[in-house]
Amino acid sequence: MERRVGVVGAVVAELDIGRAWLVDPVSGREGTGEVVVRDGVIEAITWLEGDEAAGVDPGGVVVAPGFVDLHAHLREPGNEDAETIATGLAAAAHGGFTTVCAMPDTTPTLDEPSVLARIRAAALASGSPVELLAHGAVTVARAGEQLAALGELADGGVVGFSDDGAPVATAAILRNALAYAGALGLPIVDHAEDPGLTAGAEANDGYVATVLGLRGWPAAAEESAVARDLAVLADVVGDVPGARLHLTHLTTAGALDLVRRAKAAGLPVTCDVTPHHVALTDAWLAGARRWAWDAGDDPWTDGAVVAAPYDPALRVNPPLRSAADAAACLAALADGTADAVATDHVPHTSVDKDVEFGAAAPGIAGIETALGLLLAAVDAGRLSLARAVAALTAGPGAVLGGRSRRRSFGLVEGDPADLVVFDRSDRWTVTPEALATMGARSPFLGRELPGRVLLTIADGRLAFEDTSA
Ligand SMILES: [Zn+2]
Repeated sequence: MERRVGVVGAVVAELDIGRAWLVDPVSGREGTGEVVVRDGVIEAITWLEGDEAAGVDPGGVVVAPGFVDLHAHLREPGNEDAETIATGLAAAAHGGFTTVCAMPDTTPTLDEPSVLARIRAAALASGSPVELLAHGAVTVARAGEQLAALGELADGGVVGFSDDGAPVATAAILRNALAYAGALGLPIVDHAEDPGLTAGAEANDGYVATVLGLRGWPAAAEESAVARDLAVLADVVGDVPGARLHLTHLTTAGALDLVRRAKAAGLPVTCDVTPHHVALTDAWLAGARRWAWDAGDDPWTDGAVVAAPYDPALRVNPPLRSAADAAACLAALADGTADAVATDHVPHTSVDKDVEFGAAAPGIAGIETALGLLLAAVDAGRLSLARAVAALTAGPGAVLGGRSRRRSFGLVEGDPADLVVFDRSDRWTVTPEALATMGARSPFLGRELPGRVLLTIADGRLAFEDTSA
């Protein structure tokens, strides 16, 4: 295979990206331009006007800052037969991501600094230039009983705290965690779920679950948890002004509306939505394969069902929701209620995933398909390219604050090159061979997605290069 830029891990010595569509979410500027990289540094960004810009449009090659994923499960240590740090970072680079936050639900749990040191060593050994950050656990072993050593974890360099996979177990623990983490300048990242309402639940509570005979997972399970979290935050922030809450993978219109109102009231809360909750609905469990914005009221009567029902690849927590909820996720991205898109990448082994729907381990390994799902929304006129890029870069970058090595999440001359180049005019087919993740049980296998990633550069070094052409 031809190597055009270089070898993964090597400094990009010389690269001229001529006449492409540049999107800079920090300056808010997009348009035709050229980017020159020398010795790993962005030497020049030249915006072109008039005749020089003619013939270049946002439907072709796009250059954006490298993407930031606030939420990925890389499974190492403890689940290396599902994913390793090395394969997870390779998948990230293929998806255009140059900064990835690993979740702490590893074995052992990332609840003390030595586990962080282990995953950092694995990242270094992988040779990937993708920046690996991590959230520490809120409680010891994520058991919800005793606060983890938050101060030691902060000293070790975690970027937040989460018991993800499960919510912070009680309001009392959340209160202490928000205060302690707030004093350390770090957010609590909560998975909002009232487990009392979701015990045994398999699919979004609604028409599709009823017809398929799957046990319903009510929107109230998420909304009551969000309401609890916001009430506790409002209580804590008076005493600890640095307290910050980040709600991850919100999925319902009601939950997003609670965040919208909390932000308007000045509470220090941020949130993210996932690509699959934006682009898919629960009708996919019935075998529908239409994007959320094209969904009808009844997948069985409007011809949407084209695949077998009960695909375990679609089992995910929170579950795929209604078309109205997916539309609310899109609206939250458009109006900034959702600060970021986070992938909630969860690779699983065949043993855990290729089983009956209700027994399948929840999670979609979506870090390589995130861009394609968002671009499908852009292509359909449901989301602007600028907002899609911002939700993958400056939005999550702001949630990280200064805890990334990156100086900026925009396109800035003199910074180490941290870029993704993708071609919106080129589609690619999702196959196990096309994916770098070990958890290649994607619900999109066999499907064409828009936006082939051509090149990913992280910290001035080559992270991914498409060599298929
Ligand atoms: Zn979660």
